[in-house]
Amino acid sequence: MSNSLFADASRRLEKALKYVSISEDASLRLKYPKASIRVSIPVRMDDGSLRVFQGYRVRYDDTRGPGKGGVRFHPNVSIDEVQSLAFWMTFKCALLNLPFGGAKGGITLNPKELSKSELERLSRGYIDAIADFIGPDIDILAPDVYTNAMIMGWMMDQYSIIKRRISPGVVTGKPLTMGGSQGRDSATAMGAFYAINTILPKFDRIPEKTTIAVQGFGNVGSILAELLSKAGYKVVAVSDSQGGIYAEVGLDIPSIRQYKNKQNGMKAIYCKGSVCNIVEHKVISNADLLALDVDVLIPAALENQITADNAHDVKANFIFELANGPITSDADAILESKGIYVFPDILLNAGGVTVSYFEWVQNRSGLYWTLNEVNQKLKEKMVEETQNTWAISQDLSVSMRTAAYIHALNRLGEAMDAKGTRDYYLKKV
Ligand code: NAD
Repeated sequence: MSNSLFADASRRLEKALKYVSISEDASLRLKYPKASIRVSIPVRMDDGSLRVFQGYRVRYDDTRGPGKGGVRFHPNVSIDEVQSLAFWMTFKCALLNLPFGGAKGGITLNPKELSKSELERLSRGYIDAIADFIGPDIDILAPDVYTNAMIMGWMMDQYSIIKRRISPGVVTGKPLTMGGSQGRDSATAMGAFYAINTILPKFDRIPEKTTIAVQGFGNVGSILAELLSKAGYKVVAVSDSQGGIYAEVGLDIPSIRQYKNKQNGMKAIYCKGSVCNIVEHKVISNADLLALDVDVLIPAALENQITADNAHDVKANFIFELANGPITSDADAILESKGIYVFPDILLNAGGVTVSYFEWVQNRSGLYWTLNEVNQKLKEKMVEETQNTWAISQDLSVSMRTAAYIHALNRLGEAMDAKGTRDYYLKKV
């Protein structure tokens, strides 16, 4: 059995395929990415030397619309990872009923080692290399791990220069001043917040009596931790790549975010007026955090965090996946046997791509929405598709993950079959 991330992702598809009646042609096509490109990006460094970086873009499927997916800058980026992320995007967009297919991109590097101007040259070089592979009606980019609005702005500008026309619709997650949408920064966390608030009441859980641990304190994890703590949930532990902190009484997340933004580290501080006191807290490792005796565990960092090696240690009752692919398929089976409810990434973190879709719509119509309008529309989508997925999981007695794939597969299969017979005869020639 292959241990690649993509092979693991495909096992979820195989499981869900047993419950749907889509055509054999459609299910076979969904097992392969439609198109992939690997590029070398030469970048002149500040000291005058030249470095060549490896970049990728995978368009997994575009039956339901142009490819859509983020660009990741990380030392572990590989074609296997990018393809898996593009696969998840395909199912996520179908699950949320967005008119997009799935895609993803990435560059293998440690972005912390590059200066701002080196990062800008790298981002522009990536677009130079893939410009013919992307476009507002072909494949649309967005931020992911270690990329942000500033980088999206450079990418959109470079694409517009190459095409000699302003093309805001080729990239989402841009700065507001370049056609970005209100609410895009917080969209993934906000979407998860709406989904969590739809799910937990089904188990008679109330915020004040629910303890939460969040792994990953970046864009997604830190904003969600703050939303949850402001709603009354007790966030008792948070962590980043350096480690974590735990306080049984609950953490003051807004002040930890403030501290982390200033110091790039973690400390439990409580601010009263202008005085901040360090409160009692334990320093814990990421492994400790995953094994905490809490009600809710939220992995919001990277993939493959809960595996067959540590799944037995998990004590939480509910896991909400905010990162893409944080749990391996063999760990899924262990968690299920322990009675732990897992709510899958393709549903829980779909708020980001949903507001990306809203941004693309605003760019094309030229009419921009208020933050309230964006959040209201996001809430409607997230609540509706969370309820639909829940209903499938109850009707068929399957996990929420399998239910989410079934729901997405039905839409993908229908779209593939609606395209008629052209592809069938093309393949026969
Ligand atoms: P980010 O770069 O802002 O934050 C990542 C965080 O994870 C950082 O705090 C980092 O220190 C921490 N981290 C890294 N390695 C870790 C480790 N081994 N243990 C614990 N923490 C670790 O990235 P982000 O945008 O918040 O994305 C996080 C996850 O959410 C990724 O899986 C990403 O694909 C997914 N996601 C993000 C979005 C989005 O809109 N940003 C949308 C959908 C899914």
